[in-house]
Amino acid sequence: MASAVPTASALLCCEGIEAGYGGKPVLRGIDLTLEAGEWAVLAGENGAGKTTLLKVLAGLHRPTRGHIWFQGEDLVGLPAPAVVKRGLALVPEGRWIFPRLTVLENLKMGAYLHPRGFSDRLEVVLDLFAPLKPRLSVLGGRLSGGEQQMLAIARALLGRPSLLLLDEPSLGLAADMRAAIYETLAELNRREAVAILVVEQDPEGVAQKARRWLMLQDGCLSRDGRGAPPDPDQLAKGLPERPPGACR
Ligand code: ATP
Repeated sequence: MASAVPTASALLCCEGIEAGYGGKPVLRGIDLTLEAGEWAVLAGENGAGKTTLLKVLAGLHRPTRGHIWFQGEDLVGLPAPAVVKRGLALVPEGRWIFPRLTVLENLKMGAYLHPRGFSDRLEVVLDLFAPLKPRLSVLGGRLSGGEQQMLAIARALLGRPSLLLLDEPSLGLAADMRAAIYETLAELNRREAVAILVVEQDPEGVAQKARRWLMLQDGCLSRDGRGAPPDPDQLAKGLPERPPGACR
């Protein structure tokens, strides 16, 4: 397992994160370190706590215990906009764009904490997401599912994150659009060294891109490895239950 001791080089360092809903424990002691520019996939069965972990990291759900060091600062207790301002952005499951705003208006919303230099940043982001370029005046709700996902990611990038959290960005998309999204994320990772932590149920979709694989099982990290992705059959068949109590 990765060491949870904050190091000078670590971008993110979680230590003993516990969280739940109304007394029901979901995360049972997560230790996780991510370096700047790292790309990791978080896999695991339904209900393992993947979305909860992303929400906790993004300041949308408060942990009951633990620390989240991000660039040396403990984020626990900070409101979500303060977390975004520090460079940690979440693209939630289901895209959540503003369907009645145009593509450009959606993108401007993403820059509300960093309004200076918007035009230059917009150019950089549209260079990555070229299909959005000719559609700036189109309502978000009129875009295809894949374009909406691109818009959701592009909007997050306007906030200039150094860590991008993505919750199942390929869900419900055709294979070619899934590939395009992951190709763009790879380009982003190469060009800007933005670190990526992506929840993905279909590890094959990112198999060529990610370099680190994490598995969440019953609220504990049960695998943290580099190289080959977890066997999809293993995910489909289900993992053995973990005993109750803390992960360690
Ligand atoms: P999935 O792949 O199905 O989205 P997941 O690994 O992302 O699963 P979570 O969504 O984090 O898992 O859910 C973990 C557990 O917490 C589940 O048992 C779920 O029912 C419960 N849960 C999630 N959100 C809430 C909530 N707002 N209130 C109460 N329980 C919740």
